[in-house]
Amino acid sequence: MREGVVALHLRSRNPLNAFTSYVIRGQKHVLVDPGPPGRAGELLEQLSRHRISLGDIGLIVITHGHADQFGNAASLKEWTQAPVAVHELDAEYVHWGSAPVLKPVTKLGTIFRSFVRTKAVPVEPDIILYDGDKLGRYGGRGRVILTPGHTAGSISILLPDGTCIIGDLLMRGLRVGSLSYPWFAEDLSLLRESLRRIVAAGATNLLPSHGAPFSVDSLLRVFPWLESGAETSTAPELGDRGPRRPRSRRRRHPRRGGQAQNGSQESATG
Ligand SMILES: [Zn+2]
Repeated sequence: MREGVVALHLRSRNPLNAFTSYVIRGQKHVLVDPGPPGRAGELLEQLSRHRISLGDIGLIVITHGHADQFGNAASLKEWTQAPVAVHELDAEYVHWGSAPVLKPVTKLGTIFRSFVRTKAVPVEPDIILYDGDKLGRYGGRGRVILTPGHTAGSISILLPDGTCIIGDLLMRGLRVGSLSYPWFAEDLSLLRESLRRIVAAGATNLLPSHGAPFSVDSLLRVFPWLESGAETSTAPELGDRGPRRPRSRRRRHPRRGGQAQNGSQESATG
Protein backbone atom coordinates (compact mmCIF):
# COMPACT_ATOMS: atom_id res chain seq x y z
CA MET A 1 0.00 0.00 0.00
CA ARG A 2 1.39 3.39 -0.98
CA GLU A 3 1.01 6.11 1.57
CA GLY A 4 1.53 9.84 1.41
CA VAL A 5 -0.49 12.78 0.21
CA VAL A 6 -1.24 13.52 -3.43
CA ALA A 7 -1.93 17.12 -4.49
CA LEU A 8 -4.62 17.50 -7.15
CA HIS A 9 -4.06 20.89 -8.78
CA LEU A 10 -7.10 22.55 -10.26
CA ARG A 11 -5.21 25.16 -12.19
CA SER A 12 -6.56 28.26 -13.76
CA ARG A 13 -5.24 31.23 -15.70
CA ASN A 14 -7.14 33.30 -13.24
CA PRO A 15 -5.18 32.95 -10.00
CA LEU A 16 -8.37 33.57 -8.08
CA ASN A 17 -9.64 30.21 -9.30
CA ALA A 18 -6.56 28.09 -8.63
CA PHE A 19 -7.23 25.45 -6.01
CA THR A 20 -5.57 22.34 -4.64
CA SER A 21 -7.48 19.29 -3.43
CA TYR A 22 -5.61 16.53 -1.62
CA VAL A 23 -5.81 12.77 -1.38
CA ILE A 24 -4.42 11.05 1.69
CA ARG A 25 -3.44 7.63 0.48
CA GLY A 26 -4.18 4.66 2.70
CA GLN A 27 -6.05 1.40 2.78
CA LYS A 28 -8.92 3.58 1.67
CA HIS A 29 -8.07 7.05 0.42
CA VAL A 30 -9.37 10.26 1.95
CA LEU A 31 -10.28 13.04 -0.48
CA VAL A 32 -9.84 16.40 1.24
CA ASP A 33 -11.80 19.36 -0.21
CA PRO A 34 -13.21 18.36 -3.61
CA GLY A 35 -12.83 21.93 -4.88
CA PRO A 36 -14.76 24.86 -6.34
CA PRO A 37 -18.21 24.47 -7.94
CA GLY A 38 -18.38 23.18 -11.51
CA ARG A 39 -14.90 21.68 -11.55
CA ALA A 40 -15.66 18.02 -10.82
CA GLY A 41 -14.45 17.10 -14.33
CA GLU A 42 -11.04 18.62 -13.67
CA LEU A 43 -10.88 16.79 -10.39
CA LEU A 44 -11.67 13.50 -12.14
CA GLU A 45 -8.85 14.17 -14.62
CA GLN A 46 -6.44 14.79 -11.78
CA LEU A 47 -7.53 11.63 -9.96
CA SER A 48 -7.06 9.58 -13.10
CA ARG A 49 -3.68 11.21 -13.77
CA HIS A 50 -2.57 9.99 -10.35
CA ARG A 51 -4.23 6.59 -10.91
CA ILE A 52 -6.61 7.01 -8.05
CA SER A 53 -9.86 5.24 -8.74
CA LEU A 54 -13.12 6.57 -7.38
CA GLY A 55 -13.86 3.24 -5.73
CA ASP A 56 -10.74 3.55 -3.58
CA ILE A 57 -11.90 6.80 -2.00
CA GLY A 58 -13.50 5.88 1.30
CA LEU A 59 -14.06 9.30 2.85
CA ILE A 60 -14.52 12.89 1.72
CA VAL A 61 -13.38 15.49 4.26
CA ILE A 62 -14.34 19.16 3.98
CA THR A 63 -11.90 21.40 5.88
CA HIS A 64 -14.51 24.18 6.18
CA GLY A 65 -17.85 25.25 4.85
CA HIS A 66 -16.89 27.47 1.92
CA ALA A 67 -18.12 26.84 -1.60
CA ASP A 68 -14.64 26.48 -3.05
CA GLN A 69 -13.94 23.64 -0.63
CA PHE A 70 -17.15 21.63 -1.02
CA GLY A 71 -18.39 22.79 -4.45
CA ASN A 72 -17.96 19.33 -6.00
CA ALA A 73 -18.73 17.32 -2.91
CA ALA A 74 -22.23 16.31 -4.01
CA SER A 75 -20.91 14.85 -7.28
CA LEU A 76 -17.99 13.14 -5.66
CA LYS A 77 -20.20 11.68 -2.94
CA GLU A 78 -22.45 10.22 -5.61
CA TRP A 79 -19.61 8.84 -7.72
CA THR A 80 -17.58 7.37 -4.85
CA GLN A 81 -20.42 6.48 -2.46
CA ALA A 82 -18.07 7.75 0.23
CA PRO A 83 -19.46 9.61 3.25
CA VAL A 84 -18.86 13.35 3.60
CA ALA A 85 -17.30 14.55 6.85
CA VAL A 86 -17.15 18.10 8.19
CA HIS A 87 -16.72 19.74 11.57
CA GLU A 88 -19.84 20.34 13.58
CA LEU A 89 -19.55 24.14 13.43
CA ASP A 90 -19.41 24.31 9.62
CA ALA A 91 -21.77 21.43 8.82
CA GLU A 92 -24.67 23.79 8.41
CA TYR A 93 -22.98 25.65 5.53
CA VAL A 94 -22.38 22.42 3.65
CA HIS A 95 -25.92 21.32 4.31
CA TRP A 96 -27.41 24.57 2.98
CA GLY A 97 -24.84 25.11 0.24
CA SER A 98 -23.92 28.58 1.38
CA ALA A 99 -21.51 30.19 3.77
CA PRO A 100 -21.74 33.29 5.92
CA VAL A 101 -20.75 36.70 4.68
CA LEU A 102 -17.12 37.11 5.56
CA LYS A 103 -14.98 39.91 6.79
CA PRO A 104 -12.05 40.71 4.52
CA VAL A 105 -8.87 40.82 6.57
CA THR A 106 -6.47 41.64 3.75
CA LYS A 107 -6.42 44.32 1.09
CA LEU A 108 -6.94 41.71 -1.63
CA GLY A 109 -9.94 40.37 0.23
CA THR A 110 -11.51 43.82 0.17
CA ILE A 111 -10.74 44.28 -3.52
CA PHE A 112 -11.92 40.88 -4.72
CA ARG A 113 -14.78 40.28 -2.34
CA SER A 114 -17.47 40.93 -4.94
CA PHE A 115 -15.83 38.56 -7.44
CA VAL A 116 -15.89 35.63 -5.09
CA ARG A 117 -18.01 32.72 -6.21
CA THR A 118 -21.29 32.45 -4.38
CA LYS A 119 -22.93 29.25 -3.18
CA ALA A 120 -22.53 25.66 -4.23
CA VAL A 121 -24.64 22.54 -4.58
CA PRO A 122 -25.47 21.54 -1.01
CA VAL A 123 -24.49 18.14 0.26
CA GLU A 124 -25.68 16.38 3.38
CA PRO A 125 -22.82 15.68 5.79
CA ASP A 126 -22.73 12.02 6.84
CA ILE A 127 -20.13 12.34 9.58
CA ILE A 128 -19.64 15.16 12.06
CA LEU A 129 -16.02 15.67 13.02
CA TYR A 130 -14.63 17.01 16.27
CA ASP A 131 -11.23 18.10 17.45
CA GLY A 132 -8.96 15.12 18.01
CA ASP A 133 -10.92 12.67 15.87
CA LYS A 134 -8.82 10.05 14.17
CA LEU A 135 -9.78 9.34 10.60
CA GLY A 136 -8.70 5.74 11.18
CA ARG A 137 -12.15 4.96 12.46
CA TYR A 138 -13.49 5.81 9.01
CA GLY A 139 -10.82 3.81 7.22
CA GLY A 140 -8.50 6.73 6.49
CA ARG A 141 -5.38 8.21 8.04
CA GLY A 142 -4.77 11.44 9.94
CA ARG A 143 -6.02 13.34 12.94
CA VAL A 144 -8.46 16.24 13.03
CA ILE A 145 -7.21 19.46 14.62
CA LEU A 146 -9.79 22.15 15.10
CA THR A 147 -8.17 25.31 13.70
CA PRO A 148 -10.86 28.01 13.84
CA GLY A 149 -10.47 31.59 12.71
CA HIS A 150 -11.11 31.52 8.97
CA THR A 151 -14.41 29.93 9.93
CA ALA A 152 -15.52 28.64 13.32
CA GLY A 153 -15.44 25.01 12.17
CA SER A 154 -12.21 25.07 10.13
CA ILE A 155 -10.14 21.94 10.63
CA SER A 156 -6.68 20.78 9.64
CA ILE A 157 -5.69 17.16 9.09
CA LEU A 158 -2.36 16.17 10.63
CA LEU A 159 -0.53 13.04 9.51
CA PRO A 160 2.05 11.18 11.62
CA ASP A 161 4.93 12.42 9.42
CA GLY A 162 4.08 16.08 10.15
CA THR A 163 2.26 16.73 6.90
CA CYS A 164 -0.71 18.93 7.66
CA ILE A 165 -3.54 19.84 5.28
CA ILE A 166 -4.67 23.26 6.48
CA GLY A 167 -7.50 24.37 4.17
CA ASP A 168 -7.55 28.17 4.24
CA LEU A 169 -5.79 28.67 7.55
CA LEU A 170 -3.11 30.41 5.49
CA MET A 171 -2.66 30.88 1.79
CA ARG A 172 -0.02 31.74 -0.67
CA GLY A 173 -1.25 34.86 -2.36
CA LEU A 174 -1.07 36.37 -5.79
CA ARG A 175 2.47 37.54 -5.23
CA VAL A 176 4.73 34.61 -5.98
CA GLY A 177 5.66 32.74 -2.87
CA SER A 178 4.01 35.16 -0.50
CA LEU A 179 2.59 33.56 2.58
CA SER A 180 -0.33 35.39 4.07
CA TYR A 181 -3.46 35.22 6.08
CA PRO A 182 -6.49 34.17 4.07
CA TRP A 183 -8.36 37.04 2.47
CA PHE A 184 -11.29 36.52 4.78
CA ALA A 185 -11.53 35.45 8.39
CA GLU A 186 -14.28 35.38 10.94
CA ASP A 187 -11.82 35.88 13.76
CA LEU A 188 -8.19 36.73 13.10
CA SER A 189 -7.07 36.33 16.69
CA LEU A 190 -8.54 32.81 16.78
CA LEU A 191 -6.77 32.11 13.51
CA ARG A 192 -3.45 33.14 15.07
CA GLU A 193 -4.09 30.78 17.96
CA SER A 194 -4.82 28.03 15.45
CA LEU A 195 -1.42 28.60 13.84
CA ARG A 196 0.15 28.11 17.25
CA ARG A 197 -1.89 24.95 17.64
CA ILE A 198 -0.68 23.25 14.51
CA VAL A 199 2.95 24.13 15.28
CA ALA A 200 2.55 22.76 18.81
CA ALA A 201 0.88 19.63 17.43
CA GLY A 202 3.99 18.84 15.37
CA ALA A 203 3.06 19.97 11.88
CA THR A 204 6.16 20.39 9.71
CA ASN A 205 4.91 20.56 6.13
CA LEU A 206 1.79 22.61 5.52
CA LEU A 207 -0.51 22.07 2.54
CA PRO A 208 -2.92 24.94 1.83
CA SER A 209 -5.89 25.01 -0.54
CA HIS A 210 -4.52 28.07 -2.31
CA GLY A 211 -0.86 28.05 -3.27
CA ALA A 212 2.14 25.80 -2.86
CA PRO A 213 3.08 23.85 0.29
CA PHE A 214 5.43 25.46 2.79
CA SER A 215 7.47 24.33 5.74
CA VAL A 216 6.86 25.25 9.35
CA ASP A 217 10.27 26.96 9.24
CA SER A 218 9.08 29.40 6.61
CA LEU A 219 5.90 29.88 8.62
CA LEU A 220 8.00 30.85 11.65
CA ARG A 221 10.06 33.22 9.55
CA VAL A 222 6.94 35.05 8.38
CA PHE A 223 5.21 34.93 11.77
CA PRO A 224 8.07 34.92 14.32
CA TRP A 225 5.66 35.57 17.20
CA LEU A 226 4.51 31.96 16.81
CA GLU A 227 7.61 30.80 18.65
CA SER A 228 7.01 32.93 21.69
CA GLY A 229 4.45 31.40 23.96
CA ALA A 230 2.80 28.06 24.29
CA GLU A 231 -0.32 26.81 22.67
CA THR A 232 -3.18 28.86 24.05
CA SER A 233 -6.10 27.58 22.07
CA THR A 234 -9.36 27.29 23.88
CA ALA A 235 -10.57 24.70 21.39
CA PRO A 236 -12.97 22.31 23.05
CA GLU A 237 -13.06 18.59 23.56
CA LEU A 238 -9.83 16.96 22.69
CA GLY A 239 -10.06 13.23 22.69
CA ASP A 240 -11.18 10.16 20.91
CA ARG A 241 -14.89 9.54 20.90
CA GLY A 242 -17.24 7.21 19.16
CA PRO A 243 -18.58 7.85 15.64
CA ARG A 244 -21.32 10.45 15.54
CA ARG A 245 -24.10 11.17 13.17
CA PRO A 246 -25.16 14.69 12.32
CA ARG A 247 -27.90 16.17 14.37
CA SER A 248 -31.15 16.91 12.66
CA ARG A 249 -30.84 20.16 10.79
CA ARG A 250 -32.55 23.24 11.96
CA ARG A 251 -31.83 26.65 10.57
CA ARG A 252 -30.32 28.70 13.32
CA HIS A 253 -29.95 32.47 13.35
CA PRO A 254 -27.34 33.53 13.93
CA ARG A 255 -24.90 30.71 14.49
CA ARG A 256 -21.72 30.76 16.49
CA GLY A 257 -18.91 32.60 14.76
CA GLY A 258 -21.03 33.29 11.73
CA GLN A 259 -23.76 35.56 10.58
CA ALA A 260 -27.41 35.11 9.89
CA GLN A 261 -28.23 32.92 6.95
CA ASN A 262 -30.16 34.51 4.16
CA GLY A 263 -30.68 34.15 0.46
CA SER A 264 -28.06 36.64 -0.65
CA GLN A 265 -25.00 35.23 0.99
CA GLU A 266 -21.59 35.06 -0.50
CA SER A 267 -19.26 32.20 -0.13
CA ALA A 268 -15.61 32.85 -0.15
CA THR A 269 -12.26 31.91 -1.44
CA GLY A 270 -9.11 32.14 0.58
ZN1 LIG B 1 -12.30 29.40 2.83
